[in-house]
Amino acid sequence: MEYKLVIGLEIHIQLGLKTKAFCGCKNEFGGVPNSRICPICLGLPGSLPSVNVELINSAILAGHATNSKIRHVVKFDRKHYYYPDLPKGYQISQNDKPICEGGSLLIETPSGLKKINIIRIHMEEDSGKSLHLLDSENQSYIDFNRSGAPLLEIVSAPDISSGDEAVAFLSSLREIFRYLDLSECNMENGSFRCDVNVNLIVRESGVEYKTPIAEIKNLNSFKSIKAAIEYEELRQQEEWVQFRKTLDSCGKHTRGFDDKSGTTVIQRDKETVSDYRYFQEPDLPLIEIDDFYIDNIKNLKLIELPFDARVRLKDQYGLSDFDVITLTSDKHLLRYFEEAVINASDPKKVANWILSEVLSVLNDKGISVLEFNLLPSYITELVEFIVAGKISGKMAKKVFSEMMIREVSASVIISENQLEQVSDKFVIKQIVLEVLNENPKSIELYKKGKDHAIKFMMGQIMKKSSGKINPVLANEILLQSLSNV
Ligand SMILES: [Zn+2]
Repeated sequence: MEYKLVIGLEIHIQLGLKTKAFCGCKNEFGGVPNSRICPICLGLPGSLPSVNVELINSAILAGHATNSKIRHVVKFDRKHYYYPDLPKGYQISQNDKPICEGGSLLIETPSGLKKINIIRIHMEEDSGKSLHLLDSENQSYIDFNRSGAPLLEIVSAPDISSGDEAVAFLSSLREIFRYLDLSECNMENGSFRCDVNVNLIVRESGVEYKTPIAEIKNLNSFKSIKAAIEYEELRQQEEWVQFRKTLDSCGKHTRGFDDKSGTTVIQRDKETVSDYRYFQEPDLPLIEIDDFYIDNIKNLKLIELPFDARVRLKDQYGLSDFDVITLTSDKHLLRYFEEAVINASDPKKVANWILSEVLSVLNDKGISVLEFNLLPSYITELVEFIVAGKISGKMAKKVFSEMMIREVSASVIISENQLEQVSDKFVIKQIVLEVLNENPKSIELYKKGKDHAIKFMMGQIMKKSSGKINPVLANEILLQSLSNV
């Protein structure tokens, strides 16, 4: 039996707009329940929605970023279903005419770049949130603060063939949305949600069968998504061997992922499209958008995306894959690096310093680079001191710590403390000779081939110079002097 894993993703991204999709209520996460509501987002009779133009602009920008075709007429539809946190009994969404279609993203795989097609991107509103409190009374409550929040739903083609590829696609999408300031894409607070559709194409004796599609919900981390896909791969293989269920006979069903056990559990049979009784939203007009409008958004808002930035950085500065992936993981970090490197004689060293020392400070303090208190030019200057051999790497770390405390440049600290490395050969030679005079035993040991004697003498030389001597030169002069003794 041969089989192929087939995965399609449906991603809901809550946009970081100031107001909700169809009313003027503030669009924020959390807060006092039911404090940001109005008759429109509560679905009260007689209330009329109006479209937030920023929702349309965001969808167009997302379309540009994913190489999608953007439709010139915006049409909204009602998608009917009953749920306590959906007070209208329908959700305003887009059915047959999504704003974007036919897009794609490239992802990195072990065998090279792979194109994942995007079937559609459409706009819709979020529902409220049901809270089931397991207190003594087992009460349920509804918070409508989220009701009417602006969402984009992105549907990938079933081009993904492993858990790793799914995670690569989602990471890439999340990076793009963050770069463009469209959304924080935070899985914990629900601004980035993903449902996974998984099934197998089984090949037996030259005939292909498709197993029933499992739609997995309640996935709250990339780790869970990968684990759920890997679990489903095994479960569906076993189910095929035992029951030979096919997509034609059984269709789709919904499963929930249980993080603790790492398994998926059946929840319900999937609704079919007709269950939603879609029809055009009569309270919203068709909106026409022309090429000028669409192009204008691209010109104003489409900045260089992470994939392109990675290619450019490698080319421009000769950085490694690892360097560029980390530097482009956050657009503000990338900007910091680009500002630091403008006047740098050794861009690779600047990158190393940012990726090791600066990032470790950010991680320790749990802050973003925007909150980091040293200007990029301070890092450039510090690295220039190392490149010119004026201070050692070890000394630079001490200077860096003091720079952060005092928020002053490296040159101030180095000149105040006279930290510049001693590279004067005459001065070094004097110190080397002193050490040799004081340690005749070490010279003997060295002559007997004991290498550790060199280390000991170097230690003495560094100690005498309070660590300021250029160690490379000192080592050279020590070896020269030893050969003359
Ligand atoms: Zn409202």
